[in-house]
Amino acid sequence: MEVAPKKVHIKTFGCQMNVYDSNRMLGLLQERGFVVEPDLREADVVLINTCSIRAKSEQKVLSLLGELKGLKDKKPETVLGISGCIGQRMGRTLLHRVPHLDLVFGPDSVDRVVPLVEEVMARGARLVEAEFEKMSRAYVQPAVVLDKAKPSEYLTIMKGCDHFCTYCIVPYVRGREKSRAIAEVLEDVRKLVDRGTKEIVFLGQNINTYGKGTEENLAQLIERAHEIEGLERIRYVTSHPRDLGMDLIEQFGKLPKLMPALHLPFQSGSNRILKRMSRLYTREDYLLKVEALRKACPEIALSTDAIVGFPGETEEEFEETLTLMEQVKFSLAFMFKYSPRPGTRAMIYAGEEVPEKIKEARLARLLKVVYPQIDAENRQYIGKITPVLIEAMDKKDMNFTGRNPAGKLVHVFNAGAACVGKVIDVEVTDANGSNLKGYYVHAERNAEPKTIKPRRAAEALPA
Ligand code: SF4
Repeated sequence: MEVAPKKVHIKTFGCQMNVYDSNRMLGLLQERGFVVEPDLREADVVLINTCSIRAKSEQKVLSLLGELKGLKDKKPETVLGISGCIGQRMGRTLLHRVPHLDLVFGPDSVDRVVPLVEEVMARGARLVEAEFEKMSRAYVQPAVVLDKAKPSEYLTIMKGCDHFCTYCIVPYVRGREKSRAIAEVLEDVRKLVDRGTKEIVFLGQNINTYGKGTEENLAQLIERAHEIEGLERIRYVTSHPRDLGMDLIEQFGKLPKLMPALHLPFQSGSNRILKRMSRLYTREDYLLKVEALRKACPEIALSTDAIVGFPGETEEEFEETLTLMEQVKFSLAFMFKYSPRPGTRAMIYAGEEVPEKIKEARLARLLKVVYPQIDAENRQYIGKITPVLIEAMDKKDMNFTGRNPAGKLVHVFNAGAACVGKVIDVEVTDANGSNLKGYYVHAERNAEPKTIKPRRAAEALPA
């Protein structure tokens, strides 16, 4: 009798690197004969790939785990696992705390997902694997068989971080920096391009130092990827203002496939707070990098992250964050209230916390400055033509979506299925703070759908 294949469901929280890791795990499990199950309740294996960058992300995962107790009671044979940053941070504690959990593993064990799941299935064992390989600066990522690829794909080229920004949990849950060799990365790029990918987004927590401890670096990788025929767009995320060198900055003015968009988190406009955060640059250093980027590539779209209410932040120091936002005029900004993470060095500032109400008020003031700026920038596209890589068709809203070189999300009302995976010229007819709308210039115009839900941009990696 033929045995039915086992069904797997992966739920992903957090940044692009987690999205990428989940896709890898799915690929490895599919190679082993598992099939993807969209309904979590029907799956034989449920994995939750987690994020612990903020307390709120952890709470969400822990409450989901609580909800899944009912599922385990009904179907005890279901394998329930936690991977990612929470798995790394909590390890065995999590297994003790959640008796219906079978498997806990960290980001360094993503490529071992098959043996881990199979061991739980075969032995009914409850397993934890949350160790880093500490000795090497390089790592090899086993290839996954691909039958098709999306027009825009993430590709992780390094992991970990050597900075210890005092608010950040990443070095503790992802370890020190390790990079993949350029040759291995380029092989992945070629495979993706052969299967239809037009845009690659290279991922790393502190991507500017890719290749540290080896003879290779990010500028070399970008140059080599730029030569690949069929690849039309290159992006990378996330940059650190101290590590973004002139070689990388100048590439934005020289390499047409390198999209004019960069995520460059500044976190705070105050030098005293930057020092407390251990960010290793000043407000002035940051502004010099912005100036150099705009000199190299005047149309570059800059996005950023900012934290309000870091312990000890005074009203004047918060206003320095506000003025930096006003001065730079970012194309997109992710703004957060500081959230203490146990185990990070910022815990030494306990007792100097900014009250929640003040944090909320500061965040609201920042949003009030930033959103109109982004809205105004997006409206400048109205009446202009912008090249959009069409990534998908949104069946519900009956429109096509993609991104322009600046990374703006664009809804296109009259593209056809043949446009998916192609860069098409779109005339922008409307815009708001979150997206642009328009028509493919080489097709008949049809009616604009009445409602399109605004979408939140995917969260960038911390840096
Ligand atoms: S914020 Fe970024 S650069 Fe700083 S420790 Fe975290 S990942 Fe590294």
